[in-house]
Amino acid sequence: MRVRKVDACALRGQLSQPFSFSQFSYDVREAMLVRVTTEDGRVGWGEAYGPAVVTAAIVGDFLGPLLIGRDPRAVESNWEMLYARSLDYGQKGVMLAAISALDIACWDLKAQDAGTPLYRLLGAPPVESIQCYWTGFYFGGDEPLERRWEREARDCLEQGFQAAKMKVGLGVARDAELVAAVRGFLGSEVKLSIDANHAYMPTDAIELARRVEGLGIHWFEEPVSPLDPEAYLQVKSQTSIPIAGGECEATRFGFERWFRLRALDYAQPDLCACGGITEGIKIATLGSLTGVHVTPHAWGTAIGQAAALHFYAARPRHPSTLVPESKLIECDRTENPYREDIIEQPMRLENGRWYLPDSPGLGVRIRPKAFEPYLAD
Ligand code: CA
Repeated sequence: MRVRKVDACALRGQLSQPFSFSQFSYDVREAMLVRVTTEDGRVGWGEAYGPAVVTAAIVGDFLGPLLIGRDPRAVESNWEMLYARSLDYGQKGVMLAAISALDIACWDLKAQDAGTPLYRLLGAPPVESIQCYWTGFYFGGDEPLERRWEREARDCLEQGFQAAKMKVGLGVARDAELVAAVRGFLGSEVKLSIDANHAYMPTDAIELARRVEGLGIHWFEEPVSPLDPEAYLQVKSQTSIPIAGGECEATRFGFERWFRLRALDYAQPDLCACGGITEGIKIATLGSLTGVHVTPHAWGTAIGQAAALHFYAARPRHPSTLVPESKLIECDRTENPYREDIIEQPMRLENGRWYLPDSPGLGVRIRPKAFEPYLAD
């Protein structure tokens, strides 16, 4: 099996209503998907996180051509070759997102060739489904947030979710009010996490953590700058709420410092940014040395979501226990015009659980000509 062609597809979809988080506002959604076609006509798909036209240029003009003629199943050597060729220019960020997309596409092909769903190839036992948490409760809109979020909480519960994540970052006092409101809307049984997208200095993050500690917060995500792992440690040492982060980090080399410092309770590599499945496995293994739970960040299309799901299904719990805490995977519920529109069959999501696809590879089929309304370039 040899790679004949690599295509990079930058997608862009207009939102009906903008939404925002602590850093900026969205009015479009972007994703970059790669299609790797082999000489015998098989197709593997991958996805990159981040600005789509930038990662598309990296794949289209630089990294993609390097894969032509290579065996996509040789995931380790392909990854090392791509990383070695780009190391001098970018060890994380868009360069690693582009490598991630290519790596996921290679794994898709490798599992298709093996005739097995990817998670089984990655060493998992047969698994039916994994519990998801609802990612939503974003800012924006003219309506008071409490009113909109009350409706959103109702949707979340009606769809059977037992876990959710809300945004914070509007200032400590307002955040504390909103977290109490959402806790009230969801009730005490639902796992509720908060995500500041690195809006705070350590002192403010600690203050917010203390104010919401009594509300049973599952984790506090990206409380402070991802450039400063010591600041995470500072927050972590001052609160009983577990600390999560890592969606801005990439590769085992990047995560090693976080793990060595014990700066996180939950590490959240994004498979579409951290270096793909090949590197995600190494990051998770490294995390297990210091008792960090690795739970993937997931944002984007069904390709990225499926990659996270297959990867996570195959990760063992560490430390092991007779009664492990349920795995919990991210499920973005914000508006995305193309998320479902580009695929033939959405992944089965029922009662807040995602069901592993049982067809070979990633198990996500893209509709022919699905991209036409969304092509960004
Ligand atoms: Ca986040």
